[in-house]
Formats: sequence, C-alpha cells, structure tokens
Amino acid sequence: MGYPQIPAFAGAPGVIRLIGHRGARGVLPENTMEGFEFTLKTGVELLELDVTTTADGVAVITHNHRLTPSMVRDAEGQWLQATPPKVSALSFAELQQYDVGGLDSSSAYGRRFPDQAFLSNIRIPRLADLLALLQQPAHQGVHLLLEIKSDPDLLSDTAARRALVGAVVSEVRKANLQPRTVLHSFDWDLLADCQRLAPEMPASFLTQLPENAADVGEDSSKAVNPVAGCTALDLPARVAAAGGQFWCPYYLDITADSLSLSLARDLGLTTVVWTVNEPEDIERMIDLGVDAICSDYPGRVQRLLLKRGLHWRAN
Ligand code: MG
Repeated sequence: MGYPQIPAFAGAPGVIRLIGHRGARGVLPENTMEGFEFTLKTGVELLELDVTTTADGVAVITHNHRLTPSMVRDAEGQWLQATPPKVSALSFAELQQYDVGGLDSSSAYGRRFPDQAFLSNIRIPRLADLLALLQQPAHQGVHLLLEIKSDPDLLSDTAARRALVGAVVSEVRKANLQPRTVLHSFDWDLLADCQRLAPEMPASFLTQLPENAADVGEDSSKAVNPVAGCTALDLPARVAAAGGQFWCPYYLDITADSLSLSLARDLGLTTVVWTVNEPEDIERMIDLGVDAICSDYPGRVQRLLLKRGLHWRAN
C-alpha cells in the first residue's frame, strides 16, 4: 500500500529531511508545547515525540516512565526527590501539578543540555494538545514521528500494550491526523500491534545495537529492542521482514559504512538516524545520504544543509 506519510520523510535529490527530536531538546524543554511551537516556527515540519498514558488513560507526551528528578519540579518548585511516581500511576490532573520547564544543571542529564532554556510553569502536554495545534491551517504540512513508549515493567502484558496503542491511535484518528503520522517504537511487539490496529499508518522500527551506550540520565529502551546478536548489516532485512516502512538506527551504529543504508534503500525502507547533535556527526550523516536526521539541535542541521546547497524541505 502507498502511504501518504512517506514522501514527507524520504530524502530526494538536494533534500535531507530534518526531524526535531522531542521538539528541539537542545534549546527548549523537551516534549513540551513550547518546544514544539518553537520548532515549527523555525520551519522544521517533522516532529518526533514520545507518548505514554496516565492512570486514567490519557495519552501524554513524555519520555521517561517515571517522573525524573533532573527535569521535574513539584508544586512548590522543588526538584523531585528519589523514587518519584510513575506517569502511569498518576491521573492527568495529578500530573499537571508538576513543572517540566527546566533541567537541574547539577544533574548528569542537565549537564548534557547546557543551552536549554529554563522555563517555569510548563506542563506535560496531552497528545491531543499537539494534534489540535497541527490541525490549524498554518501547520497542514507538519508530520509526526510518534514514538510509543512501552513500559519495561509490563512487557509480557499484552492487554496493557494494546490498551496503550489503542489510546494513541484513537487520539490520532479523532484528530484525523493519520495521514500525517508515523508510529515509531523500539518495541517491535508493540509495532506489530500498531500494524494490526492502525494499518493506515506506517511502522517505524527503532534500533540500537547493544555495544553502543544508552544515553545518560534517561530511560533506556534497550530492554525492549530485539536486536541482540545483530550487526547494522542485519537490521534492514529484519525490519523489512517485520513489515516495517521506516528503519531508525542509532547514528553510531551506521557510521562505519553506507552498506546498511543501501540495503535499506533496496528494501524500500526510509532511513531516519537519531539523535545526531554534533556538527561532525551531522556532516557524516549527510555524507552517508540518510533520508532524515533527527536532532536535538535542528538549527545546526539546517545550517549545515544550507552550507552544502541542500534543504530539509522539497520546496
Ligand atoms: Mg523518542
């Protein structure tokens, strides 16, 4: 089947696509409406975001399963202490008491993003809030790489996984944004559910080889990613065999050569690399000819593309 979403993410002569990771995490708080609005204002039309659900079944945009002390303040403005609650244990109303507008600069996670603006009174948004923004006439060209975060504590819980997929898909359908949404996950069982429940949206298979380190200060998805024993050269065929349309490798997994990329191309996969932030790494990904680059610093990618006479949009 021809998916209308794919051309928006596919490279073309003179074009490498640019995806704002969690909005533009390097400069504004991640997975917030403020971050998404900023990213759209900079002319980036592809947004990556992370979604899970609250105890009352509301699809919300946040990365970690547990509120994270380095990036969450309580109603009194204090950084959370050890053993904060899981998002899935709170109602949406309870979740709204927390402020996600800044990073604790003394934390390992905060040190990774020294240029991120520090805001206050910023709330974890509902998926519906972002979808409503994208229904506005100015944003008709915007597409989503919507990552669904499966809870590692519930990996064998088929019903929980399907409820999560169902909650996300029903929001996207309510907003009639299926033609502009790609469903994205490290959890390939969850993607199989996506393909069954929402065949109108392409499935995007994230991969990270075990030898490359997980990111400091945030939830790792390695436990749910079935790529043990693989090399980069094995991955395109695995994704294609699972029925995927997108392959999303960790950028360090494919730095060595471009063979895995040509295998992916031959299999008809769109290749999106994540999360590419340093100028020399961005340059290397441009040289390799990926379809799309997902970055915490979309402005850096814009400037490096323009310097080479390339663009992130086709027109
Ligand atoms: Mg993500």
